[in-house]
Amino acid sequence: MKTLRYNRDKVIKTSKEMFPPEKCERCGRCCIIHAYKTEDGLKLIYCEHFDPETKLCKVYEDRYKYNCLTILEAILAHVFPKDCPFVRNIENYEEPNFYKYLREKEE
Ligand code: SF4
Ligand code: SF4
Repeated sequence: MKTLRYNRDKVIKTSKEMFPPEKCERCGRCCIIHAYKTEDGLKLIYCEHFDPETKLCKVYEDRYKYNCLTILEAILAHVFPKDCPFVRNIENYEEPNFYKYLREKEE
């Protein structure tokens, strides 16, 4: 299997230009790092840097030091829910399955 190598600093700059962070609607869903079903319903585990009160990142300005993905990388890794503004117009985008269960829980 081939490994894709790239300059991360350049990717960060390119991603910021392609996908202005201001478009984020601050729902916090892409900061969920694990989700699983239990007898009591869907259990969500958020990134340790996520503040559930504000739904904001506590290390936002330094997030790439903590290996947070750029928006470009997150799109390629299919991290976002399909209604996120960064992917909602991408016809072939497929979201992770758990977002469907999260929507059902919120209805
Ligand atoms: S899923 Fe999209 S809108 Fe929600 S916090 Fe993440 S980037 Fe912002
Ligand atoms: S570092 Fe911040 S933006 Fe990145 S996943 Fe964690 S809480 Fe979310």
